[in-house]
Amino acid sequence: MLRQPILLLSRSRQIKKLVSTLPVTSGIVTSYVPGETTSTAVDATAGLVDDGLKATLDFLGEDTLDADQAETTVNAYLDLLQQLAAGGLTRHAEVSVKLSAIGQALPDSVAGGGHKIALENARTICRAARNAGTTVTLDMEDHTTTESTLAVLRELRKDFPETGAVLQAYLHRTEADCRALAYEGSRVRLCKGAYQEPETVAFQDRLDVDKSYVRCLKVLLAGQGYPMIATHDPRMVEIASSLASRYGRAQGSYEFQMLYGIRPEEQKRLASSGETVRVYIPYGLEWYGYLMRRLAERPQNLSFFLKSLISKK
Ligand SMILES: Cc1cc2nc3c(=O)[nH]c(=O)nc-3n(C[C@H](O)[C@H](O)[C@H](O)COP(=O)(O)OP(=O)(O)OC[C@H]3O[C@@H](n4cnc5c(N)ncnc54)[C@H](O)[C@@H]3O)c2cc1C
Repeated sequence: MLRQPILLLSRSRQIKKLVSTLPVTSGIVTSYVPGETTSTAVDATAGLVDDGLKATLDFLGEDTLDADQAETTVNAYLDLLQQLAAGGLTRHAEVSVKLSAIGQALPDSVAGGGHKIALENARTICRAARNAGTTVTLDMEDHTTTESTLAVLRELRKDFPETGAVLQAYLHRTEADCRALAYEGSRVRLCKGAYQEPETVAFQDRLDVDKSYVRCLKVLLAGQGYPMIATHDPRMVEIASSLASRYGRAQGSYEFQMLYGIRPEEQKRLASSGETVRVYIPYGLEWYGYLMRRLAERPQNLSFFLKSLISKK
């Protein structure tokens, strides 16, 4: 019930200014984000790999309205890929990219428009990822970007078929998108969806979102692609496991994904039962939007959050 108000509040400039004064070392921030630098992210990856987990890394940043900033983000990914390769981690770690962080939201007046810039920037990251021996997954953002993101995905997959997609079960359109993307070699991350969306495009009731998630799971697990089941929901994990055996899926022909810092014991439990488990590691200076979405999902953490704001620790 608190999810929508928190997401709405998070758009306020004053709130952003206040929350952004928290040091990254503050408990509430570090519980979701290992740090601001590439080396903290690489160290966190190495730690997870030691525990038998895989990783996907996200250099935080979104809604860039500045071409230079988009370029800085691309360079951050190139540096990250280089450091992952140098650390011998690319067999276990890939990268997740938000197109809005690499130019998708730039106006048409800038060098061919945001869509084209984001595509070219994504291509650069995909090439570097392939050279480093790993892959890219395109995160999915709010519904106004879905068409553009899927169009970029289609273009990228012509040269880089290994590029992963993300679909959000809360959107009415997603079951059909799952059908379209359940083909051989197609890596698809299914999540519930983290943005505040209108009822014209998205289910509003949690139960309806869960039902949609299960319908989408069925399509993906029965299909020919590689489903990436991104949820912390114990019910969804259980349902996914039984659907995987119902559809004759061997372990390793799909994977579970969870966010850094959320249900770490469950991540290890699944991995020790033979499942492939990938942890999404966000890092960088721009942790605000990410943190607010996580708080909106877990209002139980609000008091912890408010205490951090007051004590600034
Ligand atoms: C790897 C990964 C990548 C993602 N990528 C995207 C993306 O590209 N676009 C996008 O819109 N969203 C993305 N998301 C976020 C996703 O859409 C959801 O907002 C988020 O995962 C919360 O949904 P949930 O499935 O975990 O279930 P929820 O409905 O939030 O939670 C269900 C249950 O899970 C358990 N749980 C949830 N959170 C916690 C917690 N903090 N601690 C303990 N238990 C908890 C509780 O039992 C809870 O009742 C991603 C999520 C993951 C895991």
